[in-house]
Amino acid sequence: MLTLAKHSLGTGDRFGRQAAAQLSAFISARNQGIHLVPVWNKSNREHTFIGSEPAAVRAAANRAVVELGWSEPYYVDADHINIDTVDRFIAPSDFFTIDVAHFIGAAPEVGAVEAFVSRHPELSRESGATTSAITAIATKYLAATAEAGRIYRHIAARKGEGNFITEVSMDETDSPQTPTELLVILAALADERIPLQTIAPKFTGQFNKGVDYVGNLEQFAREFRDDLSAVAIAVNRYGLPANLKLSIHSGSDKFSLYPIMAAALAETGAGLHVKTAGTTWLEELIGLAEGGGEGLAAVKAIYGKAWAQRETLCQPYATVIDIDFARLPDPAAFADWPSDHVVAAIRHDPACPAFDPNVRQLLHVGFKIAAKMGTEYLRLLDEFQPSVSRNVTDNIFRRHILPLWSPVFKRS
Ligand SMILES: [Zn+2]
Repeated sequence: MLTLAKHSLGTGDRFGRQAAAQLSAFISARNQGIHLVPVWNKSNREHTFIGSEPAAVRAAANRAVVELGWSEPYYVDADHINIDTVDRFIAPSDFFTIDVAHFIGAAPEVGAVEAFVSRHPELSRESGATTSAITAIATKYLAATAEAGRIYRHIAARKGEGNFITEVSMDETDSPQTPTELLVILAALADERIPLQTIAPKFTGQFNKGVDYVGNLEQFAREFRDDLSAVAIAVNRYGLPANLKLSIHSGSDKFSLYPIMAAALAETGAGLHVKTAGTTWLEELIGLAEGGGEGLAAVKAIYGKAWAQRETLCQPYATVIDIDFARLPDPAAFADWPSDHVVAAIRHDPACPAFDPNVRQLLHVGFKIAAKMGTEYLRLLDEFQPSVSRNVTDNIFRRHILPLWSPVFKRS
């Protein structure tokens, strides 16, 4: 069976030009004894926005791997697929993130809840929850886990069992799942005979795109450790794959969570998968702005258009961004900024006084403007490739991999 290593990191690449720069970060990590497997993820939604095809993600990953002589495993993740969108991902992907968040709260099949609860008397013992609480959780989630089973079998029938890695995601929903809910969900996914290797629950607090975590750190720390225990219990009890681990979505830039997660991983020996939130595109902008000239001018033009279309651009992301429109700089003022000011505003260095989370988040959702620029944007990326690549690699390696994984690998 295709088995995902203990520690892995998913990177997104909206325009498909940065796979080698991203892979360089994994090579730097490996040189320091941090063994991390790269996964290139792109959702159906993102392909639709950009007008790209899943096969292009595979091609870009394969090219980077050959170019840099990477001889370790790597994967291509069909991110957030469902039964309607999965088919064009089957051939090029070997990692599938089955998104069943929309089925949370849907009515399970008649008799399914009763059968589940009597099959799993251990759940209330393990979790300390009452049977009626377990029944309520099963009622809420069994339609979702049944749908995950249906999609898993659809993929397995086409791709062959064991030829791909399976993740189930429930993160794109309103309320977080508790550790007890996670345990019930895992029992139900095991009942569906899904060889689950990663599970993406929704965690407590706000995982906004491209910025730090907003929430109670102590509560997160407690829940994260309880989730790790739930995963360990589920592996022992339900025969789920021994490498089953948590998957953190929108995991980039969550700087205040990295030391908390690193400590828990180092202590428990648990593994982790983290997906970044498409922020490589912001590193492209930083690289262009750093390059000056045409590159800087393009970033200013993109900001100007994003500012003009801010309502429309932000609307689909309302729940995962937090922009104070009143504090966005006027495009005319932004157009006068020198290169280092633009760079400092976008780059996520919370200690830098010029860092501007409003500008960063607006540009994060502004990738559709670059997508509309078409080949002109791609030409600029090629032209400014050295500074773009340097920023892409450095962001992944220094701001993400080192704080999250160096304590874990130092310990092991
Ligand atoms: Zn997600």
